[in-house]
Amino acid sequence: NRKIILLSRPEGMPTEQNFEFREAPVPDLQEGQVLVRSIYLSVDPYMRGRMSESKSYIEPYRLGEAIVGGVVGEVVQSQSSLFNVGDKVIGILGWQIYNVVEAAALRKVDDTIAPLSAYLSVLGLTGLTAYFGLLDIGRPLEGETVVVSGAAGAVGMIVGQIAKIKGAYVVGIAGSDEKTQFLEKELHFDATLNYKTVDNLSQALEQVCPNGVDVYFDNVGGSISDAVMNLLNNHARIALCGAISSYNSTDGDIGPRIQTKLIKTRSLIKGFVLGDYADRSSEGIQELGKWLAEGKLKYEETIIEGFDQVPHAFLQLFKGANLGKMLVKVNEP
Ligand code: NDP
Repeated sequence: NRKIILLSRPEGMPTEQNFEFREAPVPDLQEGQVLVRSIYLSVDPYMRGRMSESKSYIEPYRLGEAIVGGVVGEVVQSQSSLFNVGDKVIGILGWQIYNVVEAAALRKVDDTIAPLSAYLSVLGLTGLTAYFGLLDIGRPLEGETVVVSGAAGAVGMIVGQIAKIKGAYVVGIAGSDEKTQFLEKELHFDATLNYKTVDNLSQALEQVCPNGVDVYFDNVGGSISDAVMNLLNNHARIALCGAISSYNSTDGDIGPRIQTKLIKTRSLIKGFVLGDYADRSSEGIQELGKWLAEGKLKYEETIIEGFDQVPHAFLQLFKGANLGKMLVKVNEP
């Protein structure tokens, strides 16, 4: 078996040297366990937080142990009545080719309903994060202006499309022209901005948000968020989902720096983690699945091939190399 362990805790931007590939025998199965062969591994920005020692809503990764995250795989041996050999499953498993897992920690997925990768993207963590963060905190009404940062990423592109389904005017901020074109042409965002090339983000935002901002779904934090929040309307809602611009910063969290704006506009600003909605996940999966089936929702994935590429794929998230969900395919289904 092969696994990828956290060798050292990154300071600032992580590098491939923070990880190490190791060989280890696959342990024998105990009663109630199954052996899962990985097919798709998810790499996610939140994993950067777990690589640091600091306290969070989720425990830090331990040095010398395999990184864990979302994995879709196939049961290749079973000592459990819950799963048969050949079943496709999802779970929070190690960055390993094979995982020995307690069957109760897995959920079956059906590749006749959706491609296996979708259970790690639109029908998984990122799709659900978009769904609950936007609809529970943002609560966009028809005709309102919704701005989403990190708009061409896994969470962001689903947020924008759900906001369109709800009848909002949707503005996406992303880091390349290829991404902004995709959002406008393929996903019908009303307007987009490339934060890397625009001269003056605040002015450009003002132009594309003539009626101000009612909902801001924040994936990035920092100066992009300052510019958006400066345009808040009265009773605006801000869903704080992520702050990727600060994850590798050694200065800690930055912002928001516009408290008086929040007060004057009586805006609601609320951080959340998907785990808050664990008891409603079937509702989210059902709604997202319905929109997919109706053709109202599209999703995109950037799939890198090969177990050797997992650390690289993770690092690429911080360079914006992905359109939609970044995944690594480590075996054929
Ligand atoms: P994405 O698919 O959005 O990938 C990350 C993207 O972030 C990159 O493609 C890049 O796009 C952008 N980015 C990278 N560095 C910066 C930077 N310095 N400034 C601005 N943008 C940057 O990842 P996810 O959709 O999985 O996650 C999006 C956010 O949501 C993250 O902050 C993540 O931590 C958070 N999250 C929160 C959850 C929760 O429960 N609260 C659950 C899941 C995710 P670009 O080219 O546009 O720069």
